[in-house]
Amino acid sequence: MRYVIIGASAAGCAAAETLRRYAPHDPITVISEEAQPLYSRPLLTYLLSGEITREAVWLKGREYFQELALEPILGEPVTRVDPDSHAVHLLGGRVVAYDRLLIASGARPRLLGLLGEDLAGVYTLRTLADWQRLEAGLPPTGRVVVVGAGAVGLKTADALARRGLQVTLVARGSQPLSRVLDPTAASLLHGAITRMGIELIYQSWPEAIWGEHGQVKALTLNGGREIPCDAVLFSVGVAPNVEFLAGTDLATAEGIPVDQGMTSSDPDILAAGDCAHAYHLLTGKRAGYHIWPAAVAQGRIAGANLAGAGLTYDGLLPQNSLSLRGFHIITGGLGPQDTGDCEIVSELDLSRGQYRRLAYRDGRLVGLILVGAVADAGIYFQLMARQVPVPEPVQPGRMWG
Ligand SMILES: Cc1cc2nc3c(=O)[nH]c(=O)nc-3n(C[C@H](O)[C@H](O)[C@H](O)COP(=O)(O)OP(=O)(O)OC[C@H]3O[C@@H](n4cnc5c(N)ncnc54)[C@H](O)[C@@H]3O)c2cc1C
Repeated sequence: MRYVIIGASAAGCAAAETLRRYAPHDPITVISEEAQPLYSRPLLTYLLSGEITREAVWLKGREYFQELALEPILGEPVTRVDPDSHAVHLLGGRVVAYDRLLIASGARPRLLGLLGEDLAGVYTLRTLADWQRLEAGLPPTGRVVVVGAGAVGLKTADALARRGLQVTLVARGSQPLSRVLDPTAASLLHGAITRMGIELIYQSWPEAIWGEHGQVKALTLNGGREIPCDAVLFSVGVAPNVEFLAGTDLATAEGIPVDQGMTSSDPDILAAGDCAHAYHLLTGKRAGYHIWPAAVAQGRIAGANLAGAGLTYDGLLPQNSLSLRGFHIITGGLGPQDTGDCEIVSELDLSRGQYRRLAYRDGRLVGLILVGAVADAGIYFQLMARQVPVPEPVQPGRMWG
């Protein structure tokens, strides 16, 4: 069997390692448009802030591919997959044949299609190359506008502030992390962000970016407010990298729909990670949720199933962990918008800056928000992942021993 994996990040490498155990002698080609071996995207914001060095982001060395007897093709983008002829086409003209293919091509930051997005000083942060662009282009002082108050936007805003830049964070919603926090947790987070010296502007979005001599000078928000700035960084969600599937019916705008074995509508093509549209563990519906542990878990299942193991992916369990200068938030499972019919047990200790909100449905934990005291998160995630019946939900007053 000839195996090909597109993508050499969380999902692609987890798949390659698993597949090698199931198929010790078969050829496995791993293709990535990035030239580097596996590195940690979650650490990129710490690299940007200067808290870690570039050496710290590597998760695998150059010898990785050799040790697993993989054939790497690095630094070459895939431009087309032809399911009929079982062929992967590369930008340089090379064609790689496969018997079974895994697509683990991840996702890339979305832009908004605004006037001025092509100016120097407009950034996103997804790859080491993005970080290099930021390092080369950011001024030592001045103002940066970060658009988007999701987890990556918040971490990036923190990193930029740590570099000594003034940061304005623009959020479309009325609070930060609007998909996963209720108003109580959001107000604690708001306080923490403000204490970091970051300005927050809610219910706003950019309408245009203005420049001078090709360089960003200001950003205009809906409503007309103009913010003078030296750089703009977009963190407004991601789009799956599936352009090379144009002309096939394998992908939608959400990604590549997969079944519980991570197989696409073509039985010889599997998908895993941020490019896959997989099932949610708690709702049983497909969900666009992009996190590293899910990419690894899906990659492992897909790697085994490339070799015909017939494993089943339990489903994606959303989880977020955010740590901003000693302020910790962990969320998981269903967000506040999806727990309207649940029994909610919550407790707030303002003096300690701690908050806990647990959502139970039919005696099972389905949603979690922890602010401040996050030590028990692992236990809660076990309860959610296994959907263990909890005979008596923990009551307020008994939550913090
Ligand atoms: C700044 C930042 C912070 C984050 N923080 C966290 C966090 O704290 N916790 C968390 O769980 N998640 C976090 N994430 C999200 C996490 O990094 C992703 O969910 C994870 O990287 C997904 O892995 P993946 O393998 O599916 O895709 P990716 O990591 O996107 O990798 C895709 C791979 O496919 C390759 N590729 C793409 N297109 C092509 C093509 N056309 N041809 C060939 N190769 C191609 C790429 O080069 C790469 O090797 C963060 C992400 C960012 C950017």
